[in-house]
This record gives sequence, C-alpha cells and structure tokens, in this order.
Amino acid sequence: MDHNPGKEAPEVAFLESALRGAISQDASHIHIEPVDDDVAVRFRVGREYREFASEPQDILAVMTRLRTLAGLGVVPPLGPEWGVIEFENGGKTHRFATQMLPSVTGEKAILQVLRETHMDPRRLDELGMLDNQLATLKSTLKRRSGLIVLCGPAGSGLDTTAYASLLLIDRGARSVATIERVAQGQVPGVHRMEAGDVDEKNAMLRALMRTDTDVVYVQDLTGVETTTLALSAAIEHQKLVIASLHSSNAVAAVTHFVNLGIEPWLVGSGIALIQAQRLLRCLCAECREHAVILGTPTPDDQPGRNTPEPFASHRAVGCDACHGLGYTDERVLVCESMPFSDHLQQLVTERASESELQAEAVQECMTTLRSMALGLARKGVTTLNEVYLHTPPE
Ligand SMILES: [Zn+2]
Repeated sequence: MDHNPGKEAPEVAFLESALRGAISQDASHIHIEPVDDDVAVRFRVGREYREFASEPQDILAVMTRLRTLAGLGVVPPLGPEWGVIEFENGGKTHRFATQMLPSVTGEKAILQVLRETHMDPRRLDELGMLDNQLATLKSTLKRRSGLIVLCGPAGSGLDTTAYASLLLIDRGARSVATIERVAQGQVPGVHRMEAGDVDEKNAMLRALMRTDTDVVYVQDLTGVETTTLALSAAIEHQKLVIASLHSSNAVAAVTHFVNLGIEPWLVGSGIALIQAQRLLRCLCAECREHAVILGTPTPDDQPGRNTPEPFASHRAVGCDACHGLGYTDERVLVCESMPFSDHLQQLVTERASESELQAEAVQECMTTLRSMALGLARKGVTTLNEVYLHTPPE
C-alpha cells in the first residue's frame, strides 16, 4: 500500500491490509464493522476473536469498496447479501466468501477465508474417526435413501466430512449433486450448485427432487422449509441426503428439528444417522508436559465415588517450534455417531427427552464427543482445556 502514495484511496489500502493480514495470520473469518467513529477489523483465528485494526475510515467508502470487490451492487438491499472476493497476494489467488449484513449503525461485512486445503478433498479413512464410526458412516452411505446429518459449530470440519463422503460414493453408478453457499474447488463427478440465499437453496432442492439425482449434499440446513424439503427428499423421493447443521451434539440436532415444528415421526423416519463433530487443537510434541490432574471427572467416574482416578494427560507449554503457542496448526477430529436404530426412531417419534435419547444412544455403544476427546487428551494429542472448551458436558 506504500508503493503508490497519494493515488490509492484510503479504503483500498485499508481493505488490502486486512485481507493480507487475514492470510498471513491464518484467520478463518474477517469481521469489518463500524465501531463508534472507526471501522474495526477483527479476525477469527482458531477459536480466538482478535482485533486487527481500528481506524477512522469512512464506513460508507469501505463498504462500497467491499461491495465492488465482491461483485455486488453499490446500493445495499434491505436484507443480507452474498458475494465472493478474489484477491491476488504473493502470486496466489485467495477467495473470500463475503456476507454483507445490514445493521442500525451501517453495514457489517463477514468474510470467510476459503482455503485451498478445502479444495483437496480427503479420504474418509484419513479423517480420524473411530473404526465403528467409520463403519457406520460407510454403511449408511450405501443406502438409497435417508438423511445423514453432520452437525457441529462453524469450523468443525463438516464440509470436509461431507466431501469425503461424496467421494466414497460410486459416482459412476449414482448421480451426486451439492447445494452450497460457495462451491470451493473441484469434487470430481459431483454436480455442484451455489445458492446465495435460503429461497434459492429451497428452489434447487425442489428441482433436484424431481430430477434423476440419487445423492444430494445440502450445506447448512437452516429453517423449517429447507429441513422439511430435505426430509421429504429422503423419505418420499427416495434420495440419500447429506446435510450439515449448526448444532451442538447429536441429540441436540433432534431437539432442533422438533423445535422447528417438524413432526417427530418425520424426524424419526427420515433420519438415518446423525454425526456430531469438533476439531481440537493438537499439542506441540516438542514442548508438551506431562500433567496428572486429580479429581478430574471422567466418564469412568461413578456417581458418589469419592476418589476419582487421577487423570494423566499433557499440558501446553510453548516453544520456538510452535511459536510459543504450545499447539501446532493441526486439528484432530472428535465425533459422535448416532445411527437411528428402531428403538431410537421410536423414542424420537414419542418425543423422548434429550437425556433419554442420549442414554439410549450410549446404551447402543455411541462414543460421545466428550469421551472421544478425553481419550485423545489421555494420549497427549490434545489438552483437557481443548476438551472442556469444545465438547458438551455429559
Ligand atoms: Zn512447542
């Protein structure tokens, strides 16, 4: 931005610096919004939300520049809008999925950094699922119909699991399509469609139901209409539907659907499998330290037991190899897999509570997010901090 002083408008330099900063700091999201008289830029790096810059910029000029870069009209509509920014840096083209949101103080923009690693689909076997979880997902993917729900918060690797699942399907024998917000990179043999908003998504889903498509991936299952359409595709139209959902764990996904107002029998009969997941930070093997924690609750602890087993794990320290963080850039997957057995299906239909569903799923050998994560903490792959921060209590 210093190479051409006086010629470049301040908002251009400001935004370029934000985009470059996000790339160099390995941010997943950039938030740009007015704060008092300044325009603030914040990055999401891992689970951390940190300020990158706050400057007295002209918010209107910044947002107009962003809209132009994202290929949107300069006049904001009443609702949110989506676009994609392509940005050249260091000889590479970086893409940012850009959402413009109206607010009372002026527009806010949230940019998701689209990573090249996402463009290189991985094999299902490489993701780190437990053997029984992998076997369950693989056998469910062989079904001709039903809904597979992949759930977790943003950044829990849902797309990676979805693409790996699609790659496992014999695309020579079954026709596969996706409906995504931004279709990143190539997934060979898959017909990919981009839906800017919910209306577009629903229209595409309706169209796919009538066409000769066998398997559909619906990214981000939100709202009653999309969910009803996905279930209807899975039940009446005999499609295998894979959908990602922002939900805490497997039983919470069931509650979410029922709370939306969807008939429990529809949820019970449509869903084949719910898989919840998280990505936890991996400890740096160079500097991690043994730590034995007394009194840590573990799934093995019996209620009323006074002396829980000491929990041997590792703690993060920090060294040159990990830039003082104590963790590497790697993430490890933890998941819980809840296939709908006849009994679970019946419980869902009877509006059983989350705790009843959870108890039945565990009875049927479901490894929970928390217990899989604790297993990884025991092995020194991650820390108890990561476990408690990212997995729901039991
Ligand atoms: Zn280290």
